[in-house]
Amino acid sequence: MQKTSRKQFFTTSFSWMASLYLLEGGFGLLNQIYADKKISAPFPDDLHPVLESDPTAKALGFHQDAKDTDFNLYPERKEPTAKNQFCKHCVQYTQVNEGWGKCNIITTGVVSSKGWCSAWTKRS
Ligand code: SF4
Repeated sequence: MQKTSRKQFFTTSFSWMASLYLLEGGFGLLNQIYADKKISAPFPDDLHPVLESDPTAKALGFHQDAKDTDFNLYPERKEPTAKNQFCKHCVQYTQVNEGWGKCNIITTGVVSSKGWCSAWTKRS
């Protein structure tokens, strides 16, 4: 009887620890993306970044850093002719500051100037 109780205690404790770890990991990952040198410009005060898990962003294969693009899904992004395909060169991008801007298609926040999605269209 005591063994079962101890087992339940450890199972419950492990579940809580795993949940807290995953929760912190999610926030930690978010903070890492923005604190990381990948996106070095200060973040605009009153805005928040588009989450890559946003349904529209996900459907378009959007990443805040174009290097994170799924090249299996979007092999054309790997072509040498696509090397300058970043949000900052896209017709849908309106610059907010050096590192961030608003996108006319993914509107739930701001996108990094170094981002990319499959709707990228060269600014003329
Ligand atoms: S449409 Fe253009 S600006 Fe918007 S996320 Fe895609 S590449 Fe970036």
